[in-house]
Amino acid sequence: MVRIVELFKFAVPLSGMSGVDATETNPTETNPTETLRSHGLRVTAARLAVLDTLGELPPHVTVEQVGALSTQAVYDIMRALHGAGLVRRIEPAGSPALFETRVGDNHHHLRCRECGRTVDLDCSLGAAPCLTPEVSGGFEIDEAEVIFWGRCPECAAARMESP
Ligand SMILES: [Zn+2]
Ligand SMILES: [Zn+2]
Repeated sequence: MVRIVELFKFAVPLSGMSGVDATETNPTETNPTETLRSHGLRVTAARLAVLDTLGELPPHVTVEQVGALSTQAVYDIMRALHGAGLVRRIEPAGSPALFETRVGDNHHHLRCRECGRTVDLDCSLGAAPCLTPEVSGGFEIDEAEVIFWGRCPECAAARMESP
C-alpha cells in the first residue's frame, strides 16, 4: 500500500510550494488507510494519494495545487474528504475554495488582500462557535467562520517603499 502512495507522490507537481513544512500536526500523517476507514470512506489509491499530498503541501491549497489527478477527480475526492470531516474548506471572497487538514478546532484565518497569503489564527475564545451574536433569531449556531483581511508584512512593506 505504501508503495502505491510513493508512486503517486512523484506525479504531484510541487512547484511554488517549496520550503514550507506543514507536516507536524497533520492528522492524516499516521496511517492514511486507517484514516479513510475510520471515517467511513472506501480506501482507493487516488484518495490515498490525495491525502498523502495534502500532508506534504502547506495548508490552504486549491484543488489545482493538489494536482496529481484530474481537477474533477481531486474535486470529487476533496468533497468526500470534506464530507467525512477529514478536511476543512474555506472560501475567501474572490478565491477558489481552499482546503486544509487542520479540522475541528474552529480556527480562523488571516488573508492578505494583495498576495492572497492565508494563515491560521487560533480561535479567539476557545470553543466553537467562539463568537456569539447578540440576536440569533432562533438559529442554533454552531460555528463562526471568521476571515480577517489586511496586508501581510511583505505586502505592507512593499507598499511603504513604493508609494
Ligand atoms: Zn501579501
Ligand atoms: Zn486554516
